[in-house]
Amino acid sequence: MHHFTYQHGRLFAEDVDIAALADEVGTPFYVYSTATLERHYKVFAKAVGAPKSRVFFAMKANSNLAVLSTLARLGAGADTVSEGEIRRALAAGMPANAIVFSGVGKSDAELAFAVDAGIYQINIETEGELHALSRIATAKGKRQNAVFRINPDIGAGGHAKITTGSDDNKFGISLSEAERLYTVAANLPGVRILGLATHIGSQIHMLDELQLAFGRLRELTERLSSLGHRVERIDLGGGLGIPYEMAEAVEHGPGLIEDYAAMVAKTFADLDLELAYEPGRLIVGNAGILVTRALTLNPRAGKTILVVDAAMNDLIRPAMYDAFHDIWPIREPVRGGPERLYDVVGPICETGDTFATARTLPETQPGDLIALMTAGAYGAAMSSTYNSRLLVPEVLVRGAEWAIVRPRPSYEELIKLDRLPGWLS
Ligand SMILES: *Cc1c(COP(=O)(O)O)cnc(C)c1O
Repeated sequence: MHHFTYQHGRLFAEDVDIAALADEVGTPFYVYSTATLERHYKVFAKAVGAPKSRVFFAMKANSNLAVLSTLARLGAGADTVSEGEIRRALAAGMPANAIVFSGVGKSDAELAFAVDAGIYQINIETEGELHALSRIATAKGKRQNAVFRINPDIGAGGHAKITTGSDDNKFGISLSEAERLYTVAANLPGVRILGLATHIGSQIHMLDELQLAFGRLRELTERLSSLGHRVERIDLGGGLGIPYEMAEAVEHGPGLIEDYAAMVAKTFADLDLELAYEPGRLIVGNAGILVTRALTLNPRAGKTILVVDAAMNDLIRPAMYDAFHDIWPIREPVRGGPERLYDVVGPICETGDTFATARTLPETQPGDLIALMTAGAYGAAMSSTYNSRLLVPEVLVRGAEWAIVRPRPSYEELIKLDRLPGWLS
């Protein structure tokens, strides 16, 4: 379910005419829908029984302050993976005790910042990190709440680059090490281990692997509890997949939420635990689109190459994960109107700068606007200035209102990030 629909023959974001927005903002640009964000968060939070269980939005999917602030007002916390993200979450109005710090490698400076800020929980991934955290917190006269991120040796996800739960992936503490580390932690003055966390991958569409992983976490919980260790929190990570084909998205809503919540309840209901969730893509994926303008056509045998003004630096998912994004014209296609086979590409001199291959679209001319759908997650957040292209602006819509929540920088701002050394100036 999302709020990008055709009205009066043009694509609207809620009650905002995207073609009119393009005239004001210039292309390319991202548009996010408040109603979609709110709906996805509420459906998820309700299904998993928040506020009794806690929902920490995985903000690496979309870290715009306005998006975070929208979610914070609904009671969402933030799952962060760097000091920068903790600072952003705080700046967006998230209370420190609604922030979790995950991540494969955390520097001493980042751990110190998190401890000083008084965040809710640090998810510890290695024995070295356990000792570092205790040392840092002890020096400050503090004791930091933490959990161990367990690698259940079950990988899942839509692509090898986003599978994180296999034993040979770089993430987390192996199941067999957890007991020993609990004992080690019991003698460290700077940490209080309250439970376990896991996150096995992203864009997961089948619940089987998640269920297996959660089953292993449950067994571990029982083993640890029987040894007298404290397991009162389990953080189940994120990873639920979303439909990238829009027809499916309209029909099925943001994902498998109800089945997932029921599976979790079945796995853990009889244990006295606080459950936490870290959804990212599920909340923001279908709440955002990337609007781009066709620049030129390059006819080939059997198809036409359609060059648009957005590129892989603006949306890297197709290049990086072979990801599929639906493409909708901003002008509503007429039924039975002319269609063509297109490769939709960006202007960057790399074959990877391709958004879609052999895609049937309504006939498109230079100057026409199209939208890359489901671009709210891992879109703007992963963008760069490769090719000295300016970061794409982000617009948040709410009903008939809209606001630029990240302006397009100027070329002066881009260039002055660099400095010439004395011998060259
Ligand atoms: C990336 C990540 C998430 C969010 O994953 P989604 O697939 O976007 O839901 C949650 N937790 C951790 C630890 C992550 O690294």
